[in-house]
Amino acid sequence: MNYYTDNRVLRHYLKHPLMQRIVRMQERDYTQSAQYNYAPVDFNEAVEGYEQVLELVGELCADVIAPNAMAIETDGPTLKDGRVIYAPATEQNLDLFRKAGLMGISMPREYGGLNFPRTIFILIEDVVSRADAAFGNLWGLQDCAETILAFGSKEQCDRYIPRICSGETMSMDLTEPDAGSDLQSVRLKATFNEEEGRWYLDGVKRFITNGDSDVHLVLARSEEGSVDGRGLSLFIVEKNCGAVHTRRIEDKMGIHGSPTCEIVFNHAPAELIGSRRMGLIKYVMALMNGARLGIATQSVGIAQATYNEALEYARSRKQFGKAIINFPAVYDLVGTMKARLDAARSLLYETSRNVDMSGQFTELARERTLTPEERAESKIFAKKADALTPIVKGIGSEIANLNAYDCVQVHGGSGYMRDYVCERLYRDARITSIYEGTTQLQVVAAIRYATSGFYGQLLDEYLAVEVPETLMPLKARIEKMVLSYKEAVAKVQSLGCQESLDFLSRRLYDMAAYSIMAALLLADSAADEELFASSLARFVALAEALIAGHAAYISGYTPDFLSNYEK
Ligand SMILES: Cc1cc2nc3c(=O)[nH]c(=O)nc-3n(C[C@H](O)[C@H](O)[C@H](O)COP(=O)(O)OP(=O)(O)OC[C@H]3O[C@@H](n4cnc5c(N)ncnc54)[C@H](O)[C@@H]3O)c2cc1C
Repeated sequence: MNYYTDNRVLRHYLKHPLMQRIVRMQERDYTQSAQYNYAPVDFNEAVEGYEQVLELVGELCADVIAPNAMAIETDGPTLKDGRVIYAPATEQNLDLFRKAGLMGISMPREYGGLNFPRTIFILIEDVVSRADAAFGNLWGLQDCAETILAFGSKEQCDRYIPRICSGETMSMDLTEPDAGSDLQSVRLKATFNEEEGRWYLDGVKRFITNGDSDVHLVLARSEEGSVDGRGLSLFIVEKNCGAVHTRRIEDKMGIHGSPTCEIVFNHAPAELIGSRRMGLIKYVMALMNGARLGIATQSVGIAQATYNEALEYARSRKQFGKAIINFPAVYDLVGTMKARLDAARSLLYETSRNVDMSGQFTELARERTLTPEERAESKIFAKKADALTPIVKGIGSEIANLNAYDCVQVHGGSGYMRDYVCERLYRDARITSIYEGTTQLQVVAAIRYATSGFYGQLLDEYLAVEVPETLMPLKARIEKMVLSYKEAVAKVQSLGCQESLDFLSRRLYDMAAYSIMAALLLADSAADEELFASSLARFVALAEALIAGHAAYISGYTPDFLSNYEK
């Protein structure tokens, strides 16, 4: 079995027309091949290289990572003398991925990375998350190196990035007991010792994934007396400084192989990244956008796993003399799971391409002045990336949860038993809509793009694409949904009340998200009708029902809704 080659949908995203441009920019017009003999000389060679890696990952995931997931669940990580000891199978997984050269995927070649574009990293992460989301976290945190690359000094890049490429692990230390969704309240203290010319950190972070990592990125309050985000800076802390320890590993519902730690900084020497005061405002915002895309990918990987498990079980389980997949009630569930999965994935790769293009221009701007046309284009990609990221993180994670619920249902009583993978998937899925910003916080981040009309414009742009005659009826139905969404936005805005807007924003968000996913799945179906058309038909019907429901709720809304419970 191979988790890449057995899923034809994944290869489709390598062929998107924008990929040619992304890869050309990533490879600086293929000039890197002069310096590195393994660098590709053209797009075809680059894709060949990506496919080789994806096939290798697909094989490792099927043969080792997925089979190891259950042992990791049972053994879990343990704590000894303030240090986290991974489960033996986690060590085996990490070792395998290190030896296969799968660390530093998106890092430049000069640091020992593979120099893959973001979208290829996402494809790999999609495959890994299907096998084991918990391991996906440990491996995926290599992504934090992007922050050092983007905002660290040349000297910091030279020192840290080769270590990440050779397999050292990272963590992102933001949350504290009193600072979760509201990171402006972070208190961990950073003090500068003038004599030594060095920063020190003191305080506690909680809920930190892989909290005993080799290299920590830590958000801390560097400006004494400040109370908001403008007093926070970002630091690098090394595990081997000896002054950062894990106090506790949380005992949690799912992703057991991914240690969630409470960590104590006891006068830990730290290095400032970039400028003081920009920690939250600039660097963590960029870091979290990357991480949110990562969780969206994890969600799609889990949604894929739930679909596969449900389908396989429904084919093999017999009741009333036939396989349960033959009962409409069951194949409705399984088909709905597939439709949601394909729609979420369409959105994932559209977001990722925009993030990729936006990042390519940022990189280019470091090397030379952009032309006015490039600057204009770069702004558009950045805005799309910013608008789509909270949509894909929020709705992708909600879809992972819906699919996990349905997967257990298809399994009946067996789904409630630990013997079946779906029981783990159900627990693993639950965190995706909480960490890296809850769905409610994604709505907060997204809503301005609804009220400004940006999602409406984006939908018009997506629907301007030509589609074959056979898909025209579905396109017409999506156009109707978009109209209904725009009317709902206008209706909420006409209330002229911020609290009512906040109250109804989740519904507007869902309406935007489902319309966007339908429009993107239409575009994917236009490119490959055989691969996507049946999911498209099903998803359009689901989206219509959801949008009609929310439209009815919004039209029945009165301000009394704000006070029918006790605050
Ligand atoms: C397993 C796990 C791993 C984690 N890994 C990391 C990590 O690696 N690094 C890290 O820094 N953190 C990590 N976290 C922390 C995680 O990001 C936070 O738990 C999350 O952001 C929510 O914060 P909170 O738990 O304090 O909840 P709260 O902020 O207290 O939220 C509680 C509820 O209130 C809602 N809410 C809060 N504010 C608003 C608002 N303005 N509008 C609407 N609703 C709101 C939330 O949506 C939620 O429903 C992890 C957490 C877990 C459980």
